[in-house]
Amino acid sequence: VHMNGTLIYEIVMEAGFGRLKEELKKLNLEERKICIVTDSNVASLYLEEVESIVSSCCRKAEHFIFPAGEENKNLDTVKNLYEALILKQFDRQDYLLALGGGVVGDLCGYGAATYLRGISFIQVPTTLLSQVDSSIGGKTGVDFDSYKNMVGAFHMPKLVYTNIASLKTLSEEQFSSGMGEIIKHGLIKDEPYYRWLMEHATEIQNRDFTVLSQLVLVSNQIKREVVEKDPTEQGERALLNLGHTLGHAIEKLSDFRLMHGHCVGLGCIAAMAISINRGMIQPEELSRLLSVMEAFGMPVTVSGLSPENIVLTTRSDKKMDSGTVRFILLEQIGKACVNKTVTEAEMTEGLRHILA
Ligand code: NAD
Ligand code: ZN
Repeated sequence: VHMNGTLIYEIVMEAGFGRLKEELKKLNLEERKICIVTDSNVASLYLEEVESIVSSCCRKAEHFIFPAGEENKNLDTVKNLYEALILKQFDRQDYLLALGGGVVGDLCGYGAATYLRGISFIQVPTTLLSQVDSSIGGKTGVDFDSYKNMVGAFHMPKLVYTNIASLKTLSEEQFSSGMGEIIKHGLIKDEPYYRWLMEHATEIQNRDFTVLSQLVLVSNQIKREVVEKDPTEQGERALLNLGHTLGHAIEKLSDFRLMHGHCVGLGCIAAMAISINRGMIQPEELSRLLSVMEAFGMPVTVSGLSPENIVLTTRSDKKMDSGTVRFILLEQIGKACVNKTVTEAEMTEGLRHILA
């Protein structure tokens, strides 16, 4: 499936790497070097296959492997990448290719954005989260000290090649974390999609390729539409932050032991509870959300955290955004809005629904 909107690059979705060669050929890479950037887990699963395809399309294929894990999405790893690229004599015309999840995509994209003031890169996302979310929209970056995504750049890939067959090796936990962002897509933009997710929970959980390809396609479209309307996050794009204000705080307080998508899901429950308390949506929506999340094996409660601490932690996000929290609420299922008046007391009350 090809999707070609106003974003200048192409997104290709396939079950397998069978079309990667053809897509790379379109970029005329015969004279270029390509460095595949990947992490230790993905390297052992997919590097050999991808590297052999890449090397048949360019002058020379290289690779850079770093240890898997969010804790390595930092400037030290970027420095190692720069050193490897200098050693391999990469120049302005050469390419990077991110093979992996969001950690690889963010880090590789940031390396591509900054090496020699910017070189081209390709995304080959291999996790559910990266296929529906992080590979789209051009945000790249790394963490700095305890601050997530503190250093980064907007840099668009030349091609996104999504192989949904790579999802079959993903752990249950990683898969359900990706579902957090997907449920969020339904909540903010698309009520029929939200219902469809519920109705197809079994097939999705079984990773049925036909159903998965529809899911990745729709979620891709939702993310693309939002990003295309607002590439630099002035307004519309903020809607993608549903569940993220409180979700990020929970993620941080768990020392990143809880997964991003799971924290987003918890944040969505709290945001929905606040919306219900304001009379914006029907109270029965809450139990509907809980049952969708449970169907996908997502946690609906978190223990060991106090609401006061979570709310305090959201203040560091606030400082970064000129003193206001742009909180995302739901006007109805499929329609979200930015609200700057949500109080800390409302957040505390909303969090009551998820604290065990
Ligand atoms: P990840 O990249 O760490 O991948 C999760 C784990 O799965 C890793 O251990 C990885 O090695 C492994 N893995 C990857 N593909 C696999 C496969 N096919 N089979 C088996 N194992 C596989 O994490 P993620 O959830 O993909 O991404 C999270 C990151 O994405 C965070 O750093 C977050 O900040 C970032 N993110 C960025 C954006 C953006 O717009 N740039 C959006 C959302 C999230
Ligand atoms: Zn997210």
